[in-house]
Parts: sequence; structure tokens; C-alpha cells
Amino acid sequence: MSTPQAIRGTQDIFGAEAEAFAHVVETFERVRKLYRFRRVEMPVFEKTEVFSRSIGETTDVVSKEMYSFEDRGGESLTLRPEFTAGICRAYLTNGWQQHAPLKVATHGPLFRYERPQKGRYRQFHQLDAEILGAGEPQADVELLVLADQLLKELGIADGVTLMLNTLGDAESRDAWRAALVEYFRAVKSELSEDSQDRLERNPLRILDSKDPRDKVFVADAPKIDDFLSGEAQDFFGKVTSGLDAAGVAWTRAPSLVRGLDYYRHTAFEFVTDRLGAQGTVLGGGRYDGLMESLGGPPTPAVGWAAGIERLAMLVADAGKTKSDRLEFVLVPMGEAAEQFCLGLITKLRSRGIASDMAFRGNAKKRMQRADASGAEAAIIVGDDELATNSIKVKDLKTGEQVQRELGDWFDVGVGATYTRAALLDGLGGRSWIIE
Ligand code: ATP
Ligand code: MG
Repeated sequence: MSTPQAIRGTQDIFGAEAEAFAHVVETFERVRKLYRFRRVEMPVFEKTEVFSRSIGETTDVVSKEMYSFEDRGGESLTLRPEFTAGICRAYLTNGWQQHAPLKVATHGPLFRYERPQKGRYRQFHQLDAEILGAGEPQADVELLVLADQLLKELGIADGVTLMLNTLGDAESRDAWRAALVEYFRAVKSELSEDSQDRLERNPLRILDSKDPRDKVFVADAPKIDDFLSGEAQDFFGKVTSGLDAAGVAWTRAPSLVRGLDYYRHTAFEFVTDRLGAQGTVLGGGRYDGLMESLGGPPTPAVGWAAGIERLAMLVADAGKTKSDRLEFVLVPMGEAAEQFCLGLITKLRSRGIASDMAFRGNAKKRMQRADASGAEAAIIVGDDELATNSIKVKDLKTGEQVQRELGDWFDVGVGATYTRAALLDGLGGRSWIIE
């Protein structure tokens, strides 16, 4: 019988890539707390209409990329292709309006039926941050500053640029849309098939096309600036001056639109040329119309999502993942020593000291593994040590070795910090007591 293969476009992440992935998530968790974004957990599937009504029937996501299916009760469900629509559904169904303005963050897997390639998968993962029920440009600014700090803390901010645009309010957007239709209609036959199709249904999306046949015309297409209402200009001015005050660098990108239909005013992407074609690591904007498309009251909101795999690739390429410190590897010689070491390693770990011990192997094998493990020191226990109630500690960086009686070597005091150096150099003035 042959082993079943993984589904195309899914990944089994292991080793350095998995470490980089975890580092991205841990850094996000730390930074979102600094900005007081509250953690939410969302279902992986929703009724299909949650996405089709909010993201829009004319987008690629809804028309081509959704994993939709009927469940056993005959209801059409969809594996979430993004977080925003589900979070808005939750905001409306749970009465989270009472917390407005509400700052929330989450992360997890998303599903889109795409053509898999480097940085593009059918199951991928995002970090997500949203501010719901806030119409102020300060909310847009806070989200962008959060994104900027995240990239800096990940050590990948160099070579990643914030591209910023405004899509204006509904009035500006409609006027711009009409001008785009007129402009692209004149060259319709030279556009990609997809864009010919988009022309009447969703012309803004042509600006987002990755097809070179469309890109030639995008550069000279009408720009939103010629259609912005005074109010929309004022809003955008507050966003850019806020970014300047916070020291966040940005570049104006007058053709930037977001792939999804619901955006208004601010739209942005953080892009890099270090990931080939999949250069957008983080994207988002303001989506003041979304809650209404879900049947809710008018509710301004803004948010972003970042591809964890893409961020992790940048982190790994920049060599920014530190492997976690391993303090001790325990090397017992014989069965009695193994029992003894089991007691010792449990004490070490329960005091927050990362330690490891192999499940099998003779002393030589175990010592080789300890050397290869990257640990700071090996704790060696043989018959001699057992007889004298002591341990041998070998500094794996220098090869230096000392013997310590167990009665006096271990610090269990509250707030005391343990160091390998102190252990090796004769206690460093601390009390090392093992219970
Ligand atoms: P793209 O233009 O690359 O298709 P998008 O506009 O569809 O991106 P969003 O829906 O804004 O992307 O998602 C935000 C981020 O999630 C992207 O910038 C990217 O980092 C990541 N992302 C989106 N789709 C995928 C995917 N299929 N595989 C991996 N990461 C993805
Ligand atoms: Mg896409």
C-alpha cells in the first residue's frame, strides 16, 4: 500500500523554517500586547455568505479561490480565506460594539485554492490585527506603526518598504472607477483575459494585476489624486502626518489597490524585492463598508494581515532566528544513574532551566550527542558520582570539568539567577543547594 501524499499547496514545516515561523508568531504576540491589541480566536470555517457578501463576488478570492463545501446538513460552508470577514461577523453577532473601538489580533491558517509556488500556498498562515468601530485616521496610524515595529523587531525592516495609498471615500472611488473604465476600455483588446473580464465588473482590480500585459497600461492609468474629495484628502493627510510624527517611513503608491472589494481610504502594503514574485509580506487598509455588507450598522474599521510564511522566509534569510538556549544535557552511566538523573532533570526543568537527556545509548554515544546538541554543559553521573552523592559538570564550550557535591551546588532561592560560569567557578558566592 502506498503512503498518502500531502495535499498540493500544503506544507509540513520542520527544522529551521519551523523555528523561524514560531519566532514570527512569538514576536507578534509580544508586540501586539505592547499596543494593547486583545487576542481573539476565530473559527476556521464560516457560512459561505460571510465571505461572498463581504469580500465581493467579483474578487478572485470569492470567484476562484474559496474552499467551499456542503456539510452534512446541506449548508454551504467555506474554509476561511482571510480573517477580516469572520472577525466582522463575530463583532456583529456577539455585540462586540459595546467594546468599540476594539483592537483585536489573531493568527492561524487560511485556505485559498491558488497555484502553489514559492511563498504561495493553499493552506497558509497569517498574523492579523484589526481596529473595529474606529473611523479616526489615528487608528490607521496605530496599525501601521504596529506593523513597522513588528518588522523592526523581527530584524527584517531593511529592504521592506511601506507602500501607501488612499482609495478615497465612496464618492472619490466612484469617480476614479469611471475614469479607469474609460481609460482601460480604449486598450481593452491588449489587456489580459482576466482584466478584460474585470473591466466592467471590477476595474480597480486591473491595477492589482500581476500580468505583464496589464502592467504596461497601469503606469499611466488615471490616479486617485485627481478625484479625491476634500474630506478624503484631509483624512489621508492625517494618516501621513501621523506616520511622520511616529517616524514610520512610507512611499506613496498611487496605483496601489487591495485585492478585496471592501477597502476605503487608506490602503497599504509592505513589500520587498527579496522574495521574488511573492513580495508583499503585509497588506491591509480601511474597510468602512464591510459591516454593512454583512447586514450590520455602518461601522468604520481598519486592519492588516501578514503572511507568516513570507515573514519567516525573510527572518531565516537574514539569519535572525536564535535557537533557544539549551543549558544541560544529562549523561547517566548505567541504570541507577539514569533514575537519579531523571530526578535531577525534573528539578532543573521545573526551575526553568532547559535540559535534555536521551532515552537510550551508552555513555559514549550520549556524550557525543551532548557535544552535538549545542548545550552549554553536560552533567555526567556514573557509579563514582552516585557513591559520593556528586555530579560531574563539563563545560561543553571549553572542555573544562569539575566535580560538585550535590549537597551544596544548586541554587533554589527565589529570584536567584543561575549561571553556568558560577557553577563552574566554584559557586560565585551563591548557595547551591539541591533538595
Ligand atoms: P497576493 O497579491 O500575494 O495574492 P493578496 O492581496 O491576495 O496577496 P491578502 O489577502 O492581502 O493578500 O493577504 C495578506 C498577506 O497574506 C499577503 O500579503 C501575503 O503575505 C499573505 N498571503 C496571501 N495569500 C497567500 C498565499 N496563498 N500563500 C502565502 N501567503 C499568502
Ligand atoms: Mg491573492
